[in-house]
Order: sequence, then C-alpha cells, then structure tokens
Amino acid sequence: MYQSPRGTRDVLPEDAAVWRYVEERAAAEARRFGYGEIRTPTFEDAGLFLRGVGAGTDIVEKEIYRFQDKGGSDLALRPEATASVVRAYLEHGLASRPQPVKLYSLLSVFRYDRPQAGRYREFRQFNVEAIGDADPLADAEVVAILWRFLEGLGLRNLTVFLNSIGDAVCRPGFIRALVAHYEPRKAEICPDCSRRLDTNPLRLLDCKNARCQPIADAAPRTVDYLCPDCQRHFDALRGYLQAMELPYELTPRLVRGLDYYTRTVFEVVPPTAGAQSTLGGGGRYDGLAEQLGGKPTPGVGFAAGLDRIILNLEEQGCPLPAPDAPDVFFAPLGDEAKRQAAALADRVRRQGAAALVGMGDRSMKARLRQAAASGARWAVIVGEDELREEVATVKDLRDGEQQRVPFDELPGRLAAAASEAAS
Ligand code: AMP
Repeated sequence: MYQSPRGTRDVLPEDAAVWRYVEERAAAEARRFGYGEIRTPTFEDAGLFLRGVGAGTDIVEKEIYRFQDKGGSDLALRPEATASVVRAYLEHGLASRPQPVKLYSLLSVFRYDRPQAGRYREFRQFNVEAIGDADPLADAEVVAILWRFLEGLGLRNLTVFLNSIGDAVCRPGFIRALVAHYEPRKAEICPDCSRRLDTNPLRLLDCKNARCQPIADAAPRTVDYLCPDCQRHFDALRGYLQAMELPYELTPRLVRGLDYYTRTVFEVVPPTAGAQSTLGGGGRYDGLAEQLGGKPTPGVGFAAGLDRIILNLEEQGCPLPAPDAPDVFFAPLGDEAKRQAAALADRVRRQGAAALVGMGDRSMKARLRQAAASGARWAVIVGEDELREEVATVKDLRDGEQQRVPFDELPGRLAAAASEAAS
C-alpha cells in the first residue's frame, strides 16, 4: 500500500472546508488593502532561489527540492514565494505601473525539512508583497494585513515582534561591533556560531543554543546603530503602527541573515511559543531585485504558514466553518422513483441549492439514515404513492415536520427555502 510521502498530508473534505475558509479570509484581507492576486509557477530555475533566497541559507543548502527535467534544465520546487514574485515583477515590467505594486498569493511551498507537528515538507503559505516604493507605510500595511487577518480569524494573545536591521550604510558598522563583541568569547560559543562569526555574523543573534544565549543577549543592538535614513524609516513605521493601533514588541535579536534584507523585520508568534510556533514573518528586502539582475527596487512583504495557523485555530477553539452538507437529500424507492428524483435534484441544483440522490437499492428506512448522515436539512421522499400522485413528501430533518409538495413546485420551493436558511 502506498502512503502520502513523508511530510505531506491529504486534506479530506471536512478539513478542506476549514482550509477554504482560512484562504478566503486571507485573500479578502489582502484585497481590502488593495492587493491583487498573483500566481507564479510551482517550479522555477533553481538559480532563482540560489540568488533570491541565498546560497548560504538552510532553505537552499539543505532543504531545496532540486531536479533536472528531461530537457536538462536545472529546476527547483519553490521553497518560498518572494523570489518568484520579484522575478515576475521584473519579467513583466511591473515597474511601469503605479508603485508600489501590491501582490498576494496563496501557494504550496516545498522544503526538505524534518517533519513534525507544524512542520511539513509541503505546506501552504499566505504571501504578501509590496514592491516598488520604500515608504514605511508599506511596511506598516503588510504588518497590518497579517495582524488583521489573524485577529479576524479569532486568534488571541499573539505578539508582533519588530526590529530594524539597518541597510548597506549602517549595517557594516553594526557588524563590526557585533564581531568585536563575539571575538573574545569565541571559545564559549557553539560550533554553528563559530562558523557564523566568519560567514554571516548577523545570524549569531538568532542562535537557539542555550550556551550562546547570554552572549547574544548582551550583544550590541541593531537599532542603536541605525543611520539617519534608517532611523527615520523605523520611527515612521512605528508611528503608523501606533496610528493603526497595532501592538508590537521591539525585539533587538530578530534578524534576517542576508544582505538584501534591509531595515524592517517582523514576526507574529502565538502564546504557545516554541521553535515550530511562528505563524508568519517578513520584512523589507530593498536589495533583492538587484540581486536577481533587475534595477534597484525596494520591497517589503511577509509569508504566513497556513498549516500552523489552522493548528492554532483548533488549539484556541476559534470558530470554524461547519463541514459542507447538502440542502436536500432525495430518498427514492425503486428505479422509476430514482429517475424522477435524479430529474428533480437536477432542477434543484440549477436553481442554486445542493441536492443529493440516494444511490444503490435500499429500503426507505436505510435511505432516511443516509439522509441524516449526509447532514442535509431536508429529505425528499419519493415512494410509490408520491410517484403516482406527482407529489413528494418533504421532511425537515431538524424538527421532523413533513409537508407534501407537488413535483413541479418542488425545485423552486426547496431552492428558496435553502437560500433563506443560508442567509
Ligand atoms: P519563512 O518563509 O521561513 O519565513 O516561513 C514563513 C512561515 O511559514 C513561518 O512563519 C511558518 O508559519 C511557516 N513555515 C515555515 N516552514 C514550515 C514548515 N516546514 N511546515 C509548515 N509551516 C512552515
């Protein structure tokens, strides 16, 4: 027997209703902020991610699904969305449209990660990018989209962690101070941090190893080294967040390790903290377009993990949609009644309601059990008497009340009742 590959999951209909609900709310929130949907390919040239995510990152070094197709192209399943979205922005000349270009997507991404609760090899993200304008209001708006989306789902006790990591002007000075802080303590830090000290010092700050914590906590803070432009940007962002009443916590150790990340970084974390807990994170990447061969183009965005968001909705007991159920279940007895039921059900559907017809050859008692199990609001009984008189018996499965309704009135009356029940 085959099973789904490790780190992947099937979504059955009862769960698909929850997924659809969460994705529709994400899209609606993004659209309320003026974001349009973009859909990019599931795979891209591997080089896009090597440059756009960074050759030295875990995502690219250890986790990328990279393959050659039969034509010999070097391709990779997307491990994130931003590189693809910026590629599309450059490829389609979106710089000639009003800036910033605001884009959202709902997509599956792929990472060869060690699977556990909240960590999968294929998972879904809600991704938002504002490209082409360095205005700190864009930073504030992407934070707001993520926050309003999560809050709107009913999630509580979330925290937004916020930091600014400066830019090409001020970061070198910060890195010098950081390295000077770590050098004398080289003997005390973990092997990963020893490596980071040489290759990517900024990442020293997000080390999770216990022995590095006191050193990282006492390290210099990026916000104390911001140049005037970065300071103004950060102050303005905080002003907008305050104006929109978006709560946040300044977190000096929050970083992104690659050079094209600039200024703003943020994360949203639920109350049950842990390595696998972050619901979403993002920041500004003013150097990315250039890294991909385009003109310098500012951008800011985030990615939120929908699998984890759904886990948290369940954990926090947030309201979730009921599983899909038909409005009407037709319970025919015998072949002729089944033909009649098929015709009537089709007319009900064409008027916009959902109708099922009991299949197989079953007793009326078994049919009514099927009707109840389907979750339908009404059962329509079509037996011998009903066929002869061309009048169906409609049973309200909530209160058990029955009515007789002529066949030709049935589709219209059921569709109207279903639409009233839904509103
Ligand atoms: P990242 O693109 O790494 O910043 O991740 C953005 C969000 O995607 C995270 O905050 C998580 O919610 C989610 N995420 C990252 N990796 C995984 C994974 N392996 N499985 C499920 N969700 C993930």
